[in-house]
Amino acid sequence: MSQLKNMSLSELTRHQEELQKQYDMYKNETIRLDMSRGKPSQEQLDLSMDMLTVLTNESHVVDANETDIRNYGLLDGIPEAKEWFGTMFEMAADQIIVGGNSSLALMHDTVARAMLHGVDADATPWAKLPKVKFICPTPGYDRHFSICELFDIEMISVEMTEDGPDMDQVETLVANDEAIKGIWCVPKYSNPEGITYSDQVVQRLSKMETKATDFRIFWDNAYAIHHLTDTPDELLDIVKQCEHAGVPNRVYQFASTSKVTFPGSGISAFMASKENIQFAKKLMGIQTIGADKINQSRHIRFFEQIGGVEKLMKQHAAIIKPKFDQVLSTLEQKLAEKEIADWTTPNGGYFISLNTMEGCAKRVVSLAADVGVTLTGAGATYPYGKDPVDRNIRIAPTFPSLGELKKAMEILCLCVELAAVEKVIKQ
Ligand code: PMP
Repeated sequence: MSQLKNMSLSELTRHQEELQKQYDMYKNETIRLDMSRGKPSQEQLDLSMDMLTVLTNESHVVDANETDIRNYGLLDGIPEAKEWFGTMFEMAADQIIVGGNSSLALMHDTVARAMLHGVDADATPWAKLPKVKFICPTPGYDRHFSICELFDIEMISVEMTEDGPDMDQVETLVANDEAIKGIWCVPKYSNPEGITYSDQVVQRLSKMETKATDFRIFWDNAYAIHHLTDTPDELLDIVKQCEHAGVPNRVYQFASTSKVTFPGSGISAFMASKENIQFAKKLMGIQTIGADKINQSRHIRFFEQIGGVEKLMKQHAAIIKPKFDQVLSTLEQKLAEKEIADWTTPNGGYFISLNTMEGCAKRVVSLAADVGVTLTGAGATYPYGKDPVDRNIRIAPTFPSLGELKKAMEILCLCVELAAVEKVIKQ
Protein backbone atom coordinates (compact mmCIF):
# COMPACT_ATOMS: atom_id res chain seq x y z
CA MET A 1 0.00 0.00 0.00
CA SER A 2 1.15 3.50 -0.76
CA GLN A 3 2.79 5.42 2.06
CA LEU A 4 0.45 8.27 1.19
CA LYS A 5 -2.42 6.26 2.63
CA ASN A 6 -0.80 6.42 6.06
CA MET A 7 -0.62 10.21 6.08
CA SER A 8 -3.14 12.41 7.86
CA LEU A 9 -5.10 14.96 5.83
CA SER A 10 -2.97 17.84 7.09
CA GLU A 11 0.24 15.96 6.25
CA LEU A 12 -1.11 15.23 2.80
CA THR A 13 -2.09 18.85 2.21
CA ARG A 14 1.34 20.04 3.30
CA HIS A 15 2.98 17.48 1.00
CA GLN A 16 0.78 18.59 -1.89
CA GLU A 17 1.76 22.22 -1.33
CA GLU A 18 5.46 21.31 -1.42
CA LEU A 19 5.06 19.33 -4.64
CA GLN A 20 2.95 22.08 -6.18
CA LYS A 21 5.71 24.59 -5.39
CA GLN A 22 8.29 22.46 -7.19
CA TYR A 23 5.90 22.00 -10.09
CA ASP A 24 5.22 25.74 -10.38
CA MET A 25 8.96 26.39 -10.67
CA TYR A 26 9.03 24.26 -13.84
CA LYS A 27 6.10 26.31 -15.12
CA ASN A 28 8.31 29.38 -15.15
CA GLU A 29 10.83 27.71 -17.44
CA THR A 30 10.30 27.27 -21.17
CA ILE A 31 10.54 23.52 -21.47
CA ARG A 32 9.82 21.60 -24.66
CA LEU A 33 10.48 17.89 -24.32
CA ASP A 34 8.88 15.11 -26.33
CA MET A 35 8.71 11.52 -25.10
CA SER A 36 5.55 10.67 -27.00
CA ARG A 37 6.62 8.42 -29.88
CA GLY A 38 9.24 5.74 -30.28
CA LYS A 39 11.49 7.50 -32.73
CA PRO A 40 15.25 6.97 -33.09
CA SER A 41 17.41 9.98 -32.25
CA GLN A 42 19.41 11.84 -34.86
CA GLU A 43 22.57 10.12 -33.64
CA GLN A 44 20.96 6.76 -34.44
CA LEU A 45 19.84 7.91 -37.88
CA ASP A 46 23.42 9.03 -38.59
CA LEU A 47 24.58 5.41 -38.18
CA SER A 48 23.00 4.48 -41.51
CA MET A 49 24.10 7.45 -43.63
CA ASP A 50 26.42 5.25 -45.73
CA MET A 51 23.36 3.40 -46.97
CA LEU A 52 22.51 6.42 -49.09
CA THR A 53 25.69 6.09 -51.15
CA VAL A 54 26.10 2.34 -51.25
CA LEU A 55 24.84 1.98 -54.84
CA THR A 56 27.73 3.54 -56.71
CA ASN A 57 28.24 1.91 -60.08
CA GLU A 58 26.58 0.02 -62.88
CA SER A 59 27.14 -3.37 -61.30
CA HIS A 60 24.86 -2.18 -58.51
CA VAL A 61 21.75 -1.82 -60.64
CA VAL A 62 21.03 -5.54 -60.78
CA ASP A 63 19.94 -7.96 -58.08
CA ALA A 64 21.49 -11.32 -57.21
CA ASN A 65 19.76 -12.88 -60.24
CA GLU A 66 20.97 -10.09 -62.57
CA THR A 67 17.47 -8.54 -62.76
CA ASP A 68 17.58 -4.78 -63.31
CA ILE A 69 16.33 -3.29 -60.05
CA ARG A 70 15.56 0.02 -61.76
CA ASN A 71 12.75 -1.54 -63.74
CA TYR A 72 9.31 -2.98 -62.95
CA GLY A 73 9.01 -6.48 -61.53
CA LEU A 74 9.45 -8.78 -58.55
CA LEU A 75 6.24 -8.35 -56.58
CA ASP A 76 7.75 -10.24 -53.65
CA GLY A 77 11.10 -8.46 -53.61
CA ILE A 78 14.68 -9.03 -54.77
CA PRO A 79 16.12 -12.45 -53.85
CA GLU A 80 18.83 -11.12 -51.54
CA ALA A 81 16.28 -9.16 -49.49
CA LYS A 82 14.10 -12.25 -49.22
CA GLU A 83 17.14 -14.21 -48.14
CA TRP A 84 18.03 -11.56 -45.55
CA PHE A 85 14.60 -11.68 -43.89
CA GLY A 86 14.49 -15.45 -44.46
CA THR A 87 17.73 -16.01 -42.57
CA MET A 88 16.62 -13.78 -39.71
CA PHE A 89 13.21 -15.45 -39.29
CA GLU A 90 14.00 -18.93 -40.65
CA MET A 91 11.54 -18.66 -43.49
CA ALA A 92 11.86 -20.05 -47.04
CA ALA A 93 11.83 -17.74 -50.07
CA ASP A 94 8.28 -18.77 -50.97
CA GLN A 95 7.11 -17.77 -47.49
CA ILE A 96 8.16 -14.12 -47.81
CA ILE A 97 7.00 -10.95 -49.51
CA VAL A 98 9.39 -8.05 -49.08
CA GLY A 99 7.30 -4.91 -48.95
CA GLY A 100 7.81 -1.20 -48.99
CA ASN A 101 8.72 1.24 -46.27
CA SER A 102 6.13 0.21 -43.68
CA SER A 103 5.16 -3.04 -41.96
CA LEU A 104 2.13 -1.20 -40.56
CA ALA A 105 0.92 -0.73 -44.14
CA LEU A 106 1.36 -4.49 -44.71
CA MET A 107 -0.70 -5.22 -41.59
CA HIS A 108 -3.40 -2.75 -42.62
CA ASP A 109 -3.57 -4.26 -46.10
CA THR A 110 -3.65 -7.81 -44.74
CA VAL A 111 -6.67 -6.94 -42.61
CA ALA A 112 -8.23 -5.11 -45.57
CA ARG A 113 -7.77 -8.13 -47.85
CA ALA A 114 -9.36 -10.43 -45.25
CA MET A 115 -12.27 -8.00 -44.93
CA LEU A 116 -12.84 -7.76 -48.67
CA HIS A 117 -11.84 -11.21 -49.92
CA GLY A 118 -11.46 -13.52 -46.91
CA VAL A 119 -8.24 -15.20 -45.81
CA ASP A 120 -8.25 -17.69 -48.71
CA ALA A 121 -10.18 -18.41 -51.87
CA ASP A 122 -12.85 -20.42 -50.02
CA ALA A 123 -13.26 -18.23 -46.94
CA THR A 124 -16.05 -15.72 -46.40
CA PRO A 125 -14.88 -12.09 -46.55
CA TRP A 126 -14.96 -10.81 -42.99
CA ALA A 127 -16.87 -7.72 -44.10
CA LYS A 128 -19.81 -9.98 -45.08
CA LEU A 129 -20.13 -11.30 -41.53
CA PRO A 130 -22.43 -9.64 -39.03
CA LYS A 131 -19.57 -9.14 -36.58
CA VAL A 132 -15.78 -9.48 -36.57
CA LYS A 133 -13.76 -9.35 -33.36
CA PHE A 134 -10.04 -9.27 -32.56
CA ILE A 135 -8.28 -10.02 -29.30
CA CYS A 136 -6.08 -7.15 -28.22
CA PRO A 137 -3.53 -7.90 -25.50
CA THR A 138 -3.28 -4.76 -23.36
CA PRO A 139 -1.46 -2.54 -22.92
CA GLY A 140 -0.57 -2.71 -26.61
CA TYR A 141 0.34 -0.79 -29.76
CA ASP A 142 -2.15 1.98 -30.49
CA ARG A 143 -1.85 1.73 -34.26
CA HIS A 144 -3.00 -1.90 -34.22
CA PHE A 145 -6.11 -0.75 -32.39
CA SER A 146 -6.66 2.05 -34.92
CA ILE A 147 -6.71 -0.52 -37.75
CA CYS A 148 -9.47 -2.39 -35.93
CA GLU A 149 -11.44 0.81 -35.38
CA LEU A 150 -11.12 1.73 -39.06
CA PHE A 151 -12.61 -1.60 -40.16
CA ASP A 152 -15.21 -1.70 -37.41
CA ILE A 153 -13.61 -4.77 -35.83
CA GLU A 154 -14.70 -5.10 -32.22
CA MET A 155 -11.74 -5.23 -29.87
CA ILE A 156 -11.65 -7.55 -26.87
CA SER A 157 -8.97 -6.64 -24.33
CA VAL A 158 -6.95 -9.39 -22.72
CA GLU A 159 -4.46 -8.55 -19.99
CA MET A 160 -0.76 -9.01 -20.60
CA THR A 161 1.13 -11.07 -18.04
CA GLU A 162 4.91 -11.25 -17.64
CA ASP A 163 4.88 -14.10 -20.19
CA GLY A 164 2.62 -12.57 -22.84
CA PRO A 165 -1.18 -12.45 -23.13
CA ASP A 166 -3.22 -14.23 -20.45
CA MET A 167 -3.63 -17.50 -22.35
CA ASP A 168 -6.43 -18.86 -20.15
CA GLN A 169 -8.54 -15.93 -21.28
CA VAL A 170 -7.41 -16.14 -24.92
CA GLU A 171 -8.12 -19.89 -25.17
CA THR A 172 -11.59 -19.57 -23.68
CA LEU A 173 -12.48 -16.66 -25.95
CA VAL A 174 -11.33 -18.19 -29.24
CA ALA A 175 -12.81 -21.61 -28.45
CA ASN A 176 -16.29 -20.20 -27.97
CA ASP A 177 -16.75 -17.29 -30.34
CA GLU A 178 -16.67 -17.77 -34.10
CA ALA A 179 -16.66 -14.00 -34.65
CA ILE A 180 -13.13 -13.77 -33.17
CA LYS A 181 -10.94 -13.78 -36.24
CA GLY A 182 -7.63 -12.50 -35.01
CA ILE A 183 -5.23 -11.47 -32.28
CA TRP A 184 -2.58 -8.73 -32.36
CA CYS A 185 0.77 -9.79 -30.91
CA VAL A 186 4.06 -7.91 -30.51
CA PRO A 187 5.84 -11.04 -29.27
CA LYS A 188 9.33 -9.72 -28.64
CA TYR A 189 10.14 -6.65 -26.51
CA SER A 190 6.44 -5.76 -26.78
CA ASN A 191 5.16 -2.25 -27.26
CA PRO A 192 4.89 -0.80 -24.60
CA GLU A 193 6.01 -3.23 -21.87
CA GLY A 194 9.08 -4.79 -23.47
CA ILE A 195 7.83 -8.28 -22.66
CA THR A 196 8.89 -11.33 -24.69
CA TYR A 197 6.35 -14.11 -24.94
CA SER A 198 7.37 -17.33 -23.14
CA ASP A 199 7.73 -20.62 -25.01
CA GLN A 200 4.59 -21.86 -23.34
CA VAL A 201 2.55 -18.88 -24.55
CA VAL A 202 3.80 -19.35 -28.12
CA GLN A 203 2.98 -23.05 -27.96
CA ARG A 204 -0.49 -22.42 -26.58
CA LEU A 205 -1.20 -19.84 -29.30
CA SER A 206 -0.30 -22.35 -31.97
CA LYS A 207 -2.12 -25.28 -30.39
CA MET A 208 -5.32 -23.66 -29.15
CA GLU A 209 -8.68 -24.68 -30.59
CA THR A 210 -10.37 -21.83 -32.41
CA LYS A 211 -14.06 -21.81 -33.26
CA ALA A 212 -13.32 -19.71 -36.36
CA THR A 213 -11.58 -21.75 -39.05
CA ASP A 214 -10.24 -18.52 -40.56
CA PHE A 215 -8.60 -17.27 -37.34
CA ARG A 216 -5.24 -15.51 -37.80
CA ILE A 217 -2.46 -14.43 -35.45
CA PHE A 218 -0.98 -11.06 -36.48
CA TRP A 219 2.61 -11.59 -35.27
CA ASP A 220 4.16 -8.13 -35.40
CA ASN A 221 7.82 -8.94 -34.81
CA ALA A 222 8.85 -5.28 -35.03
CA TYR A 223 11.58 -5.49 -32.37
CA ALA A 224 13.04 -8.93 -33.15
CA ILE A 225 16.67 -7.69 -33.22
CA HIS A 226 16.39 -4.60 -30.99
CA HIS A 227 18.31 -5.88 -28.00
CA LEU A 228 19.54 -3.68 -25.17
CA THR A 229 21.75 -6.30 -23.54
CA ASP A 230 24.28 -8.95 -24.55
CA THR A 231 21.89 -11.63 -23.35
CA PRO A 232 18.89 -11.13 -25.63
CA ASP A 233 15.47 -12.59 -24.91
CA GLU A 234 14.72 -15.73 -26.90
CA LEU A 235 11.42 -16.11 -28.74
CA LEU A 236 10.10 -19.45 -29.96
CA ASP A 237 9.44 -19.61 -33.72
CA ILE A 238 5.64 -19.47 -34.00
CA VAL A 239 5.58 -20.36 -37.68
CA LYS A 240 7.26 -23.70 -36.93
CA GLN A 241 5.00 -24.24 -33.92
CA CYS A 242 1.92 -23.68 -36.07
CA GLU A 243 3.30 -26.11 -38.67
CA HIS A 244 3.83 -28.75 -35.97
CA ALA A 245 0.36 -28.13 -34.61
CA GLY A 246 -1.16 -28.75 -38.05
CA VAL A 247 -2.32 -25.15 -38.53
CA PRO A 248 0.39 -23.73 -40.81
CA ASN A 249 -1.88 -20.98 -42.12
CA ARG A 250 -2.74 -19.59 -38.68
CA VAL A 251 0.03 -16.99 -38.45
CA TYR A 252 0.98 -13.86 -40.40
CA GLN A 253 4.38 -12.50 -39.38
CA PHE A 254 5.54 -8.91 -40.00
CA ALA A 255 8.85 -7.11 -39.59
CA SER A 256 10.69 -4.07 -40.87
CA THR A 257 13.95 -2.16 -40.70
CA SER A 258 12.22 1.03 -39.60
CA LYS A 259 14.22 1.26 -36.38
CA VAL A 260 17.29 -0.38 -37.88
CA THR A 261 17.99 2.16 -40.64
CA PHE A 262 15.48 4.96 -41.28
CA PRO A 263 11.84 4.98 -40.08
CA GLY A 264 9.71 5.78 -43.08
CA SER A 265 12.47 4.70 -45.48
CA GLY A 266 13.13 1.13 -44.40
CA ILE A 267 12.07 -2.18 -45.92
CA SER A 268 9.40 -4.49 -44.56
CA ALA A 269 8.38 -8.12 -44.79
CA PHE A 270 5.19 -10.14 -44.71
CA MET A 271 5.94 -13.77 -43.85
CA ALA A 272 3.58 -16.72 -43.65
CA SER A 273 2.86 -20.22 -45.01
CA LYS A 274 3.41 -20.77 -48.72
CA GLU A 275 -0.35 -20.99 -49.18
CA ASN A 276 -1.01 -17.70 -47.37
CA ILE A 277 1.74 -15.97 -49.37
CA GLN A 278 0.43 -17.30 -52.68
CA PHE A 279 -3.05 -16.01 -51.91
CA ALA A 280 -1.74 -12.62 -50.77
CA LYS A 281 0.43 -12.29 -53.87
CA LYS A 282 -2.53 -12.89 -56.15
CA LEU A 283 -4.37 -9.96 -54.61
CA MET A 284 -1.35 -7.73 -54.08
CA GLY A 285 -0.46 -8.12 -57.75
CA ILE A 286 -3.56 -6.09 -58.55
CA GLN A 287 -2.50 -3.34 -56.17
CA THR A 288 1.15 -2.98 -57.21
CA ILE A 289 3.79 -4.27 -59.61
CA GLY A 290 6.20 -4.35 -56.67
CA ALA A 291 7.83 -2.36 -53.89
CA ASP A 292 10.97 -0.20 -54.12
CA LYS A 293 13.70 -2.64 -55.14
CA ILE A 294 16.40 0.01 -55.16
CA ASN A 295 15.82 0.58 -51.46
CA GLN A 296 15.85 -3.17 -50.84
CA SER A 297 19.20 -3.44 -52.62
CA ARG A 298 20.57 -0.43 -50.74
CA HIS A 299 19.69 -2.08 -47.44
CA ILE A 300 21.22 -5.47 -48.22
CA ARG A 301 24.45 -4.00 -49.67
CA PHE A 302 24.75 -1.66 -46.69
CA PHE A 303 24.34 -4.51 -44.18
CA GLU A 304 27.01 -6.49 -46.09
CA GLN A 305 29.33 -3.49 -46.19
CA ILE A 306 29.20 -2.97 -42.43
CA GLY A 307 29.73 -6.66 -41.67
CA GLY A 308 26.17 -7.57 -40.69
CA VAL A 309 23.16 -5.90 -39.17
CA GLU A 310 24.08 -7.19 -35.68
CA LYS A 311 26.94 -4.68 -35.59
CA LEU A 312 24.56 -1.84 -36.38
CA MET A 313 22.12 -2.99 -33.70
CA LYS A 314 24.95 -2.98 -31.15
CA GLN A 315 25.70 0.62 -32.10
CA HIS A 316 22.03 1.50 -31.64
CA ALA A 317 22.06 -0.22 -28.24
CA ALA A 318 25.16 1.73 -27.19
CA ILE A 319 23.25 4.95 -27.87
CA ILE A 320 19.88 4.05 -26.38
CA LYS A 321 20.80 1.81 -23.42
CA PRO A 322 22.03 4.80 -21.37
CA LYS A 323 18.68 6.48 -22.08
CA PHE A 324 16.72 3.49 -20.80
CA ASP A 325 19.04 3.45 -17.78
CA GLN A 326 18.42 7.15 -17.19
CA VAL A 327 14.65 6.63 -17.19
CA LEU A 328 14.87 3.59 -14.93
CA SER A 329 17.28 5.14 -12.44
CA THR A 330 15.14 8.29 -12.13
CA LEU A 331 12.01 6.18 -11.58
CA GLU A 332 13.88 4.11 -9.00
CA GLN A 333 15.30 7.15 -7.23
CA LYS A 334 12.16 9.25 -7.19
CA LEU A 335 9.35 6.74 -6.93
CA ALA A 336 10.52 3.30 -5.76
CA GLU A 337 9.98 3.87 -2.07
CA LYS A 338 6.73 5.78 -2.46
CA GLU A 339 4.76 2.80 -3.72
CA ILE A 340 2.63 4.88 -6.04
CA ALA A 341 3.85 3.45 -9.36
CA ASP A 342 5.44 0.44 -11.01
CA TRP A 343 7.25 0.04 -14.30
CA THR A 344 8.87 -2.49 -16.61
CA THR A 345 12.61 -3.08 -17.17
CA PRO A 346 12.86 -4.33 -20.76
CA ASN A 347 15.81 -6.13 -22.34
CA GLY A 348 15.05 -4.55 -25.70
CA GLY A 349 12.59 -2.65 -27.84
CA TYR A 350 11.69 1.00 -27.66
CA PHE A 351 9.53 1.56 -24.59
CA ILE A 352 9.13 1.44 -20.85
CA SER A 353 5.64 0.99 -19.49
CA LEU A 354 4.76 2.99 -16.38
CA ASN A 355 1.72 2.30 -14.22
CA THR A 356 0.65 5.14 -11.94
CA MET A 357 -1.91 4.80 -9.15
CA GLU A 358 -5.29 3.91 -10.63
CA GLY A 359 -7.20 6.92 -11.93
CA CYS A 360 -4.06 9.07 -12.27
CA ALA A 361 -2.58 8.54 -15.76
CA LYS A 362 -4.67 11.17 -17.57
CA ARG A 363 -3.93 13.71 -14.85
CA VAL A 364 -0.17 12.95 -15.01
CA VAL A 365 -0.06 13.38 -18.80
CA SER A 366 -1.95 16.64 -18.55
CA LEU A 367 0.22 17.98 -15.69
CA ALA A 368 3.36 17.12 -17.69
CA ALA A 369 1.97 18.74 -20.84
CA ASP A 370 1.27 21.97 -18.95
CA VAL A 371 4.97 22.34 -18.18
CA GLY A 372 6.10 21.39 -21.69
CA VAL A 373 6.69 17.62 -21.45
CA THR A 374 4.77 15.69 -24.12
CA LEU A 375 3.96 12.07 -23.33
CA THR A 376 1.95 9.49 -25.29
CA GLY A 377 -1.71 10.20 -24.50
CA ALA A 378 -3.01 8.28 -21.49
CA GLY A 379 -5.27 5.49 -22.74
CA ALA A 380 -3.49 5.20 -26.10
CA THR A 381 -2.18 1.77 -25.14
CA TYR A 382 -5.76 0.44 -24.84
CA PRO A 383 -8.50 -0.28 -27.41
CA TYR A 384 -10.67 2.77 -28.14
CA GLY A 385 -8.12 4.91 -26.25
CA LYS A 386 -9.70 3.90 -22.95
CA ASP A 387 -7.55 2.52 -20.17
CA PRO A 388 -10.22 1.00 -17.89
CA VAL A 389 -8.26 1.91 -14.75
CA ASP A 390 -6.51 5.00 -16.13
CA ARG A 391 -3.03 4.12 -14.97
CA ASN A 392 -0.81 3.20 -17.97
CA ILE A 393 1.71 5.61 -19.51
CA ARG A 394 4.10 4.65 -22.30
CA ILE A 395 7.56 6.16 -21.99
CA ALA A 396 9.59 6.47 -25.20
CA PRO A 397 13.17 7.27 -24.16
CA THR A 398 15.05 7.08 -27.48
CA PHE A 399 14.47 10.45 -29.13
CA PRO A 400 15.45 13.06 -26.48
CA SER A 401 19.08 13.65 -25.50
CA LEU A 402 20.29 12.28 -22.17
CA GLY A 403 20.14 15.75 -20.64
CA GLU A 404 16.60 16.37 -21.89
CA LEU A 405 15.56 12.96 -20.69
CA LYS A 406 16.88 13.57 -17.19
CA LYS A 407 14.80 16.73 -16.88
CA ALA A 408 11.73 15.18 -18.52
CA MET A 409 11.88 12.23 -16.12
CA GLU A 410 12.25 14.44 -13.05
CA ILE A 411 9.16 16.33 -14.19
CA LEU A 412 7.28 13.11 -14.96
CA CYS A 413 8.06 11.65 -11.52
CA LEU A 414 6.95 14.86 -9.84
CA CYS A 415 3.67 14.76 -11.82
CA VAL A 416 3.13 11.10 -10.82
CA GLU A 417 3.53 12.05 -7.18
CA LEU A 418 1.42 15.18 -7.40
CA ALA A 419 -1.42 13.32 -9.12
CA ALA A 420 -1.22 10.56 -6.50
CA VAL A 421 -1.45 13.02 -3.59
CA GLU A 422 -4.37 14.82 -5.24
CA LYS A 423 -6.10 11.48 -5.67
CA VAL A 424 -5.58 10.32 -2.08
CA ILE A 425 -6.80 13.69 -0.72
CA LYS A 426 -9.97 13.40 -2.82
CA GLN A 427 -10.71 9.83 -1.65
N1 PMP B 1 4.81 -2.39 -35.01
C1 PMP B 1 5.17 -1.93 -33.81
C2 PMP B 1 4.97 -2.79 -32.61
C3 PMP B 1 5.68 -0.64 -33.68
O1 PMP B 1 6.03 -0.19 -32.46
C4 PMP B 1 5.84 0.15 -34.84
C5 PMP B 1 6.35 1.54 -34.72
N2 PMP B 1 7.69 1.59 -34.94
C6 PMP B 1 5.46 -0.38 -36.07
C7 PMP B 1 4.94 -1.65 -36.13
C8 PMP B 1 5.56 0.41 -37.33
O2 PMP B 1 6.49 -0.14 -38.17
P1 PMP B 1 6.71 0.35 -39.65
O3 PMP B 1 7.52 1.60 -39.60
O4 PMP B 1 7.43 -0.78 -40.29
O5 PMP B 1 5.37 0.61 -40.28
